[in-house]
Amino acid sequence: MRPFAYEAAADADGAVAALARGTAAARYLGGGTNLVDLMRLGVEQPELLVDVTRLAHGAIEPLDGGGLRIGAEVRNSDCAADRAVRERFPVLAQALLAGASGQLRNLATTAGNLLQRTRCAYFQDVSKPCNKRAVGSGCPAIEGDHRNLAILGHSEACVATHPSDMAVALAALGARVVVRGPGGERTIAMPGLHRLPGDEPERDTVLEHGDLITAVEVPGLPWATRSRYRKVRDRASFAFAVVSVAAALDVDEAGGTVRDARLALGGVAHVPWRALAAEDALRGAPATRESFEAAAEAELAAAEPLRDNAFKVSLAHNLIVRTLLELAGA
Ligand SMILES: Cc1cc2nc3c(=O)[nH]c(=O)nc-3n(C[C@H](O)[C@H](O)[C@H](O)COP(=O)(O)OP(=O)(O)OC[C@H]3O[C@@H](n4cnc5c(N)ncnc54)[C@H](O)[C@@H]3O)c2cc1C
Repeated sequence: MRPFAYEAAADADGAVAALARGTAAARYLGGGTNLVDLMRLGVEQPELLVDVTRLAHGAIEPLDGGGLRIGAEVRNSDCAADRAVRERFPVLAQALLAGASGQLRNLATTAGNLLQRTRCAYFQDVSKPCNKRAVGSGCPAIEGDHRNLAILGHSEACVATHPSDMAVALAALGARVVVRGPGGERTIAMPGLHRLPGDEPERDTVLEHGDLITAVEVPGLPWATRSRYRKVRDRASFAFAVVSVAAALDVDEAGGTVRDARLALGGVAHVPWRALAAEDALRGAPATRESFEAAAEAELAAAEPLRDNAFKVSLAHNLIVRTLLELAGA
């Protein structure tokens, strides 16, 4: 690992100023569970780490209308265990508990989780080309090992997937990411934080250098009490999603129709994939297997699987249908 300078920020303005003073190779440090791993691998080589875990962003607070403001430094374990999170947004608590291990969740922060980088093997191996890590060097995954990579929204430059489970739940819930940068504060609606690779796969998100995430706001959604996160992975625990689904369903019990739905997919794209076509197909439809199958088909019509990952299309289809059936109590 390359030598680096370390500084603990006392407040948000100090953190932003420290990064603005540093070079482009300065990074914020949350729990370090992804960044430090990448430093060990030589993928990240920061000259300065600005520790932001002591900032006053460690609380979960109620918002008007039943929403929650989750501080950027709230640890994943604390967020998953929070009573309001569990009761109002079960999908979020379940997504967190489906990720990593207890020890990692005790360290991992809200902001760090959203900004963790792809687990694509070529990105993590500095002896290999990778457009995301070394701009213009190529994407060996397109012809190589891509079983667990993207089926939606990929480009000729990159077929990587975004690994966070939490981000999938937050995308379904329409969360807003609060960011403080050198130019002041702004809010980014999920899933707009992350971006598709296009011809700039080195950029995971729309954030600029020095932008500090201070909180994530989850707007009130009373019917999200009926929500689920389902994750298919190669091992029963401690593994990233092959495909995952975050879903919330509002069913008019008298008429048996879907009033509203929220759906997002993980493990399928460079972003947590909000399934808007499926949501449109569900609204006003009978809460039946046929409607759920049609919604899954509407979303996955856009899938462009790679040579070895077409199985993910049917996996995503079945997972959407099964999760919606479960939520509908059918
Ligand atoms: C073995 C293993 C298994 C795992 N399995 C899963 C899994 O199944 N599902 C899953 O979702 N995750 C999984 N993870 C990933 C884990 O969730 C992430 O490593 C963790 O959430 C990152 O949070 P952190 O606070 O440690 O981030 P850090 O490593 O500290 O930072 C990550 C990135 O965020 C930036 N950053 C941190 N805080 C801020 C801020 N406030 N503002 C702006 N930028 C910031 C850093 O500069 C860095 O670029 C796994 C990790 C390991 C090691």
